Amino acid sequence: MPFPGLSARVQEIQGRVAAAVGRGGHGQQVELVAVTKTYGPEAVEAAFAAGIRAVGENRVQEALDKMAQVQCAAEWHLIGHLQRNKARHAGKFALIHSMDSARLADALAAEGTSRGDPVPVLVQVNTSGESSKGGFTLSDLASEGPRLAASGGLRVRGVMTMAPFDASETVLRDVFRGAREARAALQQAGHVEATELSMGMSGDFEIAVEEGATMIRLGTILFGARA
Ligand SMILES: *Cc1c(COP(=O)(O)O)cnc(C)c1O
Repeated sequence: MPFPGLSARVQEIQGRVAAAVGRGGHGQQVELVAVTKTYGPEAVEAAFAAGIRAVGENRVQEALDKMAQVQCAAEWHLIGHLQRNKARHAGKFALIHSMDSARLADALAAEGTSRGDPVPVLVQVNTSGESSKGGFTLSDLASEGPRLAASGGLRVRGVMTMAPFDASETVLRDVFRGAREARAALQQAGHVEATELSMGMSGDFEIAVEEGATMIRLGTILFGARA
């Protein structure tokens, strides 16, 4: 069995998550998304066997290849940038965390409308001001929130954010709090289903959970360093 000790690792992480929920006081449920990018299909099988249901991939092609090779009923999440010309693959994913521009939103909405089945998405927000990262700013959301709510082709389930690499705890908390505010702004704009807050990775998930994360995306802490 590849990844020996994974179940124990997952249990240990669940304990740390529960403690962080207690400290944060948001009382939320937290789902672990196992980030299997760069690992083979056996990582998906191992995560599923360890009780994790959702796996995250950051490239469409890699995800499609792996889907064809696994037997278990894992739920596939796309967590990386999606090119608009790949919006037609949206139906393969239970959730797209990385809707990071108005143009991509339009492409996904068109896909959902043509399928007659709205595409479940998170709005990726960039509240740190890092220009190298995609995503909506809080001021973008003031206009985009209502526009996206009017589109029938999307099912906006919440917000996703990525903290800057190696940020201080103060910066991390600012970024995560900003994402929580973005979720509130979407709810204000009429997105009643926008309840999820996808934030936190191997190095910062406890702080993210303290700040209200409902989904944490974990790679290296589960599977070891990526090649
Ligand atoms: C790779 C990746 C993760 C997981 O990162 P780890 O530090 O390995 O836990 C989470 N989110 C996104 C968007 C990623 O690309």
